[in-house]
Amino acid sequence: MSHVIVVGAGQAGASCVAKLRSEGFDGDITLIGSEPALPYQRPPLSKKYLLGEMELERLFLRPETFYEQNNISLRLGETVDGIDPIARTVSLGKTTLQYDELVLATGSHPRHLPESIGGTLDNVFTMRDLADADAMAPHFAEGKHVLVVGGGYIGLEAAAVAASKGLKVTLVEMADRILQRVAAAETSDYFRTLHSSHGVDIREGVGLQNLVGDEQVTGAVLSDGSELSVDFVIVGVGITPGVSLAEKAKLEIDNGIQTDAHGRTSDAHIWAAGDCASFPYRGDRIRLESVPNAIDQAEVVAQNIMGAGKDYVAKPWFWSDQYDVKLQIAGLNAGFDTVIVRDGDEGSQSVWYYKGDELLAVDAMNAPRDYMIGKRLIEAGKSPSPERVRNPETDMKALLKA
Ligand code: FAD
Repeated sequence: MSHVIVVGAGQAGASCVAKLRSEGFDGDITLIGSEPALPYQRPPLSKKYLLGEMELERLFLRPETFYEQNNISLRLGETVDGIDPIARTVSLGKTTLQYDELVLATGSHPRHLPESIGGTLDNVFTMRDLADADAMAPHFAEGKHVLVVGGGYIGLEAAAVAASKGLKVTLVEMADRILQRVAAAETSDYFRTLHSSHGVDIREGVGLQNLVGDEQVTGAVLSDGSELSVDFVIVGVGITPGVSLAEKAKLEIDNGIQTDAHGRTSDAHIWAAGDCASFPYRGDRIRLESVPNAIDQAEVVAQNIMGAGKDYVAKPWFWSDQYDVKLQIAGLNAGFDTVIVRDGDEGSQSVWYYKGDELLAVDAMNAPRDYMIGKRLIEAGKSPSPERVRNPETDMKALLKA
């Protein structure tokens, strides 16, 4: 009988073990995770869970009974600290476990601010796991002043929760505009307007110089010299892939644990999926940080462990919730040169990205129809002309037939 060990009990790890069983794998399965909680979904941590509108139980991907009934051995609160690819073992402290196939689903880690600028003061939080959300939640009290460092999705979502709960919110973004790394100026404009209308003080092109405080943060000095007094700080300045275990095992790393199209790493019996993995995509190599990617890639890995020989063909999509706006993104906009904006009813909007004549991606703000149409077009490799998309008279659904 064979034994599959999955390291990392997050979205990818949990999807992989479930898929193995649903595909009929009858060997042993062990899912090992550093966090004590059952595998859970992270997106609500910066949305409904932080708002206090979602119970802990609803975060869990599956109840504990699922793992029992499917004979999946869960080892939670345990960390794998080494892999021996020759002996095919993993170590957890003094315990050694033998595997036939190993899946690395180690996720990613938030970047922290350096200690030299006050990054380790009390009440300076990052937002990655349940413990982070639980630690910061009690500070979300009306009238408190929070400084959010970083205007990416995590920072903006946290700012939206804070503003909705009546906190005073200042958000600093070192780049010229919020969402600069991931979106066109038009999408940044939309979210700047949205946040400003909820009273968030967004300062773009302004970095954090240093935080102030003895043990606990009490203030911040910004790169333009301005000083703020703050009660707590949320740092959302990006993540780094969890590659340290793979690195120690001498696996190939390339902006993540390098895999082939099947999800196999440079070792024939070790696979990787989710935030930690970089994989071939349209002649290039990418790494995605999203729930759909973690699920789909992990499921393909499960199938390939069982011999399917299937390529993982990513169909990138993503979402973010801020106030009453649902942003849905289809495709990847890297390399775009033209942007088309379509305005809809009641403040809805979609932003279409082109490279030459090729439709790359769509950002849809409260525009689910545009998202759905854009996603189907992109996945089918269809590119309606920018002129047709720009024209308010165009029947968008008809684009699918063209
Ligand atoms: P993770 O879910 O991070 O799981 C990795 C797990 O591995 C962790 O529990 C970690 O503790 C464990 N681990 C690591 N090393 C070891 C080890 N050596 N031994 C044992 N265990 C180990 N995506 C979206 O698509 N839409 C969203 O709206 C969205 N919102 C988000 C909001 C927040 C606050 C965060 C943090 C992420 C959000 N994401 C969103 C991203 C999404 O949650 C991640 O892309 C997804 O969780 C990746 O899954 P994963 O399994 O690769 O990694």
